[in-house]
Amino acid sequence: MKDQQEPSFRHSVDLMFNRAVGLMDLPPGLEEKIRVCNATYTVRFGVRLRGQIQTFTGYRSVHSEHMEPVKGGIRYSLGVNQDEVEALAALMTYKCALVETPFGGSKGGLCIDPRQYDEHELELITRRFAYELAKRDLIHPSQNVPAPDMGTGEREMAWIADQYARMNTTDINSRACVTGKPLNAGGIAGRVEATGRGVQYALREFFRYKEDVAKSGLSGKLEGKRVIIQGLGNVGYHAAKFLQEEDGAIITGIIERDGALFKPEGLNVENVHEWLIKHGGVKGYPNAQVTTNGAAIMEEECDILIPAAMEGVINLSNAERIKAPLIIEAANGPITAGADEILRNKGTVVIPDMFANAGGVTVSYFEWVKNLSHIRFGRMQRRAEESRHQILVDELERLSADTGVGWQLSPNFKEKYLRGAGELELVRSGLDDTMRAAYQAMREVWHSRDDVDDLRVSAYLVSIGRVAASYRAKGL
Ligand code: NAD
Repeated sequence: MKDQQEPSFRHSVDLMFNRAVGLMDLPPGLEEKIRVCNATYTVRFGVRLRGQIQTFTGYRSVHSEHMEPVKGGIRYSLGVNQDEVEALAALMTYKCALVETPFGGSKGGLCIDPRQYDEHELELITRRFAYELAKRDLIHPSQNVPAPDMGTGEREMAWIADQYARMNTTDINSRACVTGKPLNAGGIAGRVEATGRGVQYALREFFRYKEDVAKSGLSGKLEGKRVIIQGLGNVGYHAAKFLQEEDGAIITGIIERDGALFKPEGLNVENVHEWLIKHGGVKGYPNAQVTTNGAAIMEEECDILIPAAMEGVINLSNAERIKAPLIIEAANGPITAGADEILRNKGTVVIPDMFANAGGVTVSYFEWVKNLSHIRFGRMQRRAEESRHQILVDELERLSADTGVGWQLSPNFKEKYLRGAGELELVRSGLDDTMRAAYQAMREVWHSRDDVDDLRVSAYLVSIGRVAASYRAKGL
């Protein structure tokens, strides 16, 4: 349970912001302009379901329009409220600035438990919500572009895109009104996995710097590190899967809504995920220690803790007992401002949300560009690239034969070298580059300033500096 003294989510974000601006030299007016949320629209609408009208409450909050469109996911959860969407919208502003996606920050939410409705009902509700937002330009390719978040995915984004297109029949760019769509509805390869993939790239980059790893008290590589993850949804599942299958990390704990699994030798993420989809929870999963007190597993010994479910889960009531020396915030706001201070004092290294989960918005940016350019990435270059590589391979093989040296290019090398990059490879390359550049910008501040001792404040310093520069350039 959260402590009574715990600030609200938005207040928590403000406290972290204040800690950073306290180290900057911004004019007070500009500081206030950046901090405040520009506008929050609340909508209440009715949908006829099961023979009666049900009223739903939704929000779309715009934190900063220093760049447009503004960008941010739409969440379906009973926990949605104005405070939460405003906190999440603010985080989007800082996140977009940190990873240099040219957007302002926004967020939306609908107060609903999506599991209580069937697909057809969800479509009616989503289309009506989209209609309410679109008619006020709160969904618009050049003004406000939503994406998936907790409780929503490709399916909802396809309904939103279609609803917008029906309302704007002559808008050639209508598909760019929302990202995270399925491939056949204008989506991009690699978007579904993007946030989890970004968490993997973030950790890989962190482990490239021995001195950074040492600050957490860990050493060596990502391989063999024991990981506990909370939330095996879109973000958590992909992060855990890639870390296990591609980096050799050992997933010792998985925490879900109904409890947690713990196994020191490692859980098979794919099997647990299948079980979760089939049974709606982790209860009853064989070959692992199962507990109904999921939160307690966050306090187990491990090397890396990945909260990937929701905000506020590491708070004043449990921060002291968290043993992980390294926490990467895959969810938005999983550590409250109070808990952040406790962890900092303990020497825990926290890789902050605005960086750690920025993979989603990064690939959303690529999708938006693809929609506006109306062409798949790699379509023009792929075969040309392959032909040029083929010329080189042919020439090397000819030289080897003519000179009698007898060199053989290995089939593995040839296969890899000859393959031109398709959309998925390009998306992953762009994401990797983005995550590396953002981490480097943060660590530069972390290592160069005596008054900075954590990555979160470094991230805020970089992003607030960029937002401030943007406002200044506009003459504010
Ligand atoms: P999701 O709905 O796909 O998954 C959330 C998972 O967490 C579900 O499996 C759910 O059962 C589990 N969960 C919920 N409450 C829990 C609890 N109390 N304890 C343990 N598990 C719990 O959502 P998602 O899209 O993976 O988003 C998760 C987090 O990542 C959110 O904070 C979201 O804002 C953030 N995020 C998501 C994206 C994205 O692209 N989807 C991008 C950036 C950030």
